[in-house]
Amino acid sequence: AQDRLRHAQKLEALGQLAGGVAHDFNNVSAAVLAGIALLGQRHGQALAGAAPGTARLLAELREVAERGAAISRRMLAFARREELRAAEIDPTELLRNLQAILANAIGPVVRVALDVPAALPALRADRAQLETTLINLAVNARDAMPGGGTVTLGAAVAEAGADPAGLAPGRYVRLWVADTGTGMEPAVLSRATEPFFTTKPRDRGTGLGLSMADGFAAQSGGQLRIESRPGLGTTVSLWLPCAAGQRPALAGGEARGRALIV
Ligand code: ADP
Repeated sequence: AQDRLRHAQKLEALGQLAGGVAHDFNNVSAAVLAGIALLGQRHGQALAGAAPGTARLLAELREVAERGAAISRRMLAFARREELRAAEIDPTELLRNLQAILANAIGPVVRVALDVPAALPALRADRAQLETTLINLAVNARDAMPGGGTVTLGAAVAEAGADPAGLAPGRYVRLWVADTGTGMEPAVLSRATEPFFTTKPRDRGTGLGLSMADGFAAQSGGQLRIESRPGLGTTVSLWLPCAAGQRPALAGGEARGRALIV
């Protein structure tokens, strides 16, 4: 299960990289194709008559540039991220299922506990991405407890007033993953949500888990919050909007995270 997670994170990284490269490359091949078309328009007649070799060269160039454009289109298709599909989710049911999955995946040295009140309102988010995000957070928690400890999956209703940075006022469900691990020193904590920032060996960390969690929370109309005490442990919370009531609009695909670090 762990390897699959790492693989998914690497794929995601590759997707982002490919998307960036494909986008730039697409612009380059579009410019080359436009230049070739212009040359053909201005000098096509003359070339066909006086310099057939040059005309052929131009046709070959166009073919190569078109092949390049097709490659970058394929790369863009690969990199295109799935749209978030928001649905109503029962937090209690979600975390119960996850507890069972995680007990297998990261147990038994690490205990997986549940801290959920009897009744909770539904939240609104993309279920698959929310599950992936929580699993990534739990894997981080496990990594922070090499000698064992407890991961707690929690949920509670939370109210955002005017105070906290970056959240529209309203009702939220706060889901959290808490650990009793190493915690983070301030220098690590302040960079933890940066893409590709990792303190783990190269074959273990991609540095994408928290940056993806941050982006997911922001795109869902919520927020990621991290509290960490060196030597005591870390709690990472996802504030996600309640399904009932006014609904913060889902942000566009490019939404940047805005994690609150405590
Ligand atoms: P990765 O786990 O691949 O390193 P992340 O973006 O998920 O990438 O985390 C970045 C860094 O933040 C980690 O390398 C680690 O130093 C720190 N970190 C994340 N979660 C925890 C945690 N629960 N406890 C301690 N440190 C953490």
